[in-house]
Amino acid sequence: MLAFFPPHFAPEWTNTVSMTADGEQKVEDAFTIQESDCCGNGCTNCILDNKPKPSQRALLAGKRNIILKYTRFRLLQRDSHKGDDQVLFLHFAADSDEKDDCVLDIPPGHHVMLRIGSLLRPYSPYWTDFASKEFKILVKLQPDGPMSKNLAAMQLNDRLEFRGPIGNYQHDPAVTKCIFIIAQGVAIAPTLLLVGQVLENEDDMSRIWHLVCSPDLQHVYFRDQLLEFAKYWNYRSCLYVPHQQCGSAACLVAGHCIQECDELRRSLRYKERVCLHRLDASELESHANPAIPGLRVLIIAGDSGFQQAMGEAAARALAVAQENVYLL
Ligand SMILES: Cc1cc2nc3c(=O)[nH]c(=O)nc-3n(C[C@H](O)[C@H](O)[C@H](O)COP(=O)(O)OP(=O)(O)OC[C@H]3O[C@@H](n4cnc5c(N)ncnc54)[C@H](O)[C@@H]3O)c2cc1C
Repeated sequence: MLAFFPPHFAPEWTNTVSMTADGEQKVEDAFTIQESDCCGNGCTNCILDNKPKPSQRALLAGKRNIILKYTRFRLLQRDSHKGDDQVLFLHFAADSDEKDDCVLDIPPGHHVMLRIGSLLRPYSPYWTDFASKEFKILVKLQPDGPMSKNLAAMQLNDRLEFRGPIGNYQHDPAVTKCIFIIAQGVAIAPTLLLVGQVLENEDDMSRIWHLVCSPDLQHVYFRDQLLEFAKYWNYRSCLYVPHQQCGSAACLVAGHCIQECDELRRSLRYKERVCLHRLDASELESHANPAIPGLRVLIIAGDSGFQQAMGEAAARALAVAQENVYLL
């Protein structure tokens, strides 16, 4: 294993030195995880079971993964989602006084922990940059949520502490797969990295079905990005928007837009496929494509209720073995 380490790599890079109240020097390994590192929200990929590991990519570059221990990141940009100011796009960069011997490696399918005092909450980046040590997250503010209050008050150049990467998802491009990704609301964010990882590798013969569940089109995030993905031969998406509603008489009577709705058609872009009902078992079966070869993998990104409701039914309908189901 040591053979992978560049000549100047020293494990001490991962240590933090601090003083105890008695004035003694205390050296803490960045990989040490304590009960207090868990946010207590019962995450599927809890940090206690998925402790941040050294990054092979960083080691090969002869650098340290800056986020392995809590590190300050500066807010570079903050934007609200068009039409919903409770949804924020936040762009962070490692604080400029952080050393140059570092990179930022948050692999697709992994999340980071945000810490403010003793308050901990996980967030899943949708974009990261290895060399400039930057990442972006999409945040839905929860009414009366303690972390949401902090994030809502953030101004440009404010600093926050993050640590990671946390998760267990791995993708081997040498194994051809049928990858079914089911994403709910803002949880579509981390799935963009999973899709990009496959499509940007010409040698990867895996195919992706991206099934996106949101109340309506206005709450389908990253629509432009999905249309970019649709240019690839091995990507298909479908948007499930059961609460899409225009003001026409027929749609008001139906309680949601109907398939023939002109206004809906006008709001769709080229190649966008939309269903005006929930993603249920029979709909899932329509995506199964049993004749297409490849290892079948299912990824479900959403809150725990969604993961539970979708998990078993989707694995059955899409013929995915339980060991190939990943919950983000
Ligand atoms: C692995 C993981 C990754 C996550 N990534 C993101 C992310 O990228 N962006 C993001 O916005 N959030 C993400 N979350 C949720 C996030 O960690 C916080 O829970 C959320 O920001 C609310 O925090 P809070 O302290 O404001 O409110 P909390 O005290 O956590 O929650 C307030 C209320 O909102 C409910 N609630 C919390 N989250 C959700 C949700 N997602 N959907 C519906 N109800 C909810 C809670 O049950 C509670 O009733 C992730 C969660 C996990 C487990």
